Parts: sequence; structure tokens; C-alpha cells
Amino acid sequence: MSILKVARMGHPVLRRPARPVEVDEIAQPWFQELVDDMIDTMKEYNGVGLAAPQVHEGVRVFVAALGAEDGDRDEVLVIVNPEIEPAGPEDVEGWEGCLSVPDVRGLVPRAEEIQVRGIDRTGRGLQLKASGFGARVIQHEVDHLDGVLFLDRMRSLETLTYLDEYSRFWAPDEKTDE
Ligand code: ZN
Repeated sequence: MSILKVARMGHPVLRRPARPVEVDEIAQPWFQELVDDMIDTMKEYNGVGLAAPQVHEGVRVFVAALGAEDGDRDEVLVIVNPEIEPAGPEDVEGWEGCLSVPDVRGLVPRAEEIQVRGIDRTGRGLQLKASGFGARVIQHEVDHLDGVLFLDRMRSLETLTYLDEYSRFWAPDEKTDE
């Protein structure tokens, strides 16, 4: 397993829509290794999520450290070919950061609740409902698979802030990057 290089804003791979993963690719060693490396890379950089295009692989898979609500981040969610739908009318604004857009945060509107469908890393169909922070992270990661960055979703760039200023003037919490 290895720590992969994370593509930063400006690299064209972040703007290219990723291709679906074929079901028979999931069990292949290169794919399993990619998933393991993505998990290691996300942990190394204290991210809560990472999508394949961020590590220069144009395939539709992301990993997210959204384990138990009690803060156990060891449990990692892996979703192949994710599809999401809003599960309610509410859009809420929340702070986001991104490993590909280092050192800045901004307020992004997202669906409060979503329905997620996809395939897990063993090839089994997967379906779940997510809300709040988990829903936000998943929407952020699926955007990466479509070549979209959180900056594109901001209603205004007025809240775009460097991390230091974020801690000083906005919410001094411990959210990490996606
Ligand atoms: Zn991101």
C-alpha cells in the first residue's frame, strides 16, 4: 500500500468526468489496490473523503471516513459508481474544504438528506440514506466524479477563507478536508 499524490486545483484530471467502473473490474487487484491506497492517502492527509480523480484515476469510486457517529473514523465507506438523489427539499449551507484545494474553506449549499445507491468494494449492491455532514461529504465526493469542485457550488465567494482566518473569524471546529 502506498500514499498517492493528490492532484491540486488546476490539474485537468479534476475537471474530467470519471468513467463508471465495470462490475468485473471491482475484484481485480489494480482496483482493490487503488481503494486501499485511497484509504491510506485520505488518512495520511487527515481527509474525511477522497475521490479517485483526486489521485489521478478517472474512475467512479470514492472513500469516506464516515464510520460511527461516535467519531470512530476507522470505518471507511467505499462506494463504486455512486448515484445520489436528494431525499428532502432542504438545502443547508455548511463549511467545506478539499485536499485538492488546500488551505481554504467556504460555505457550500447541499441537500440536507440524500439517498445513495452504488456498489461496495466486494461487488455487492449498496443503498443508504445519509444526512447532515455525511450527506455533505458524499455530495462533495460525487461532485469530484463529475469534475466539479466545491468552489463551483458556492453561492458567493464572500465566505472563501484561508484556514488561519477560518479559525480566527468563523467556526473554530475540527472539520477536515474532503
Ligand atoms: Zn474535494
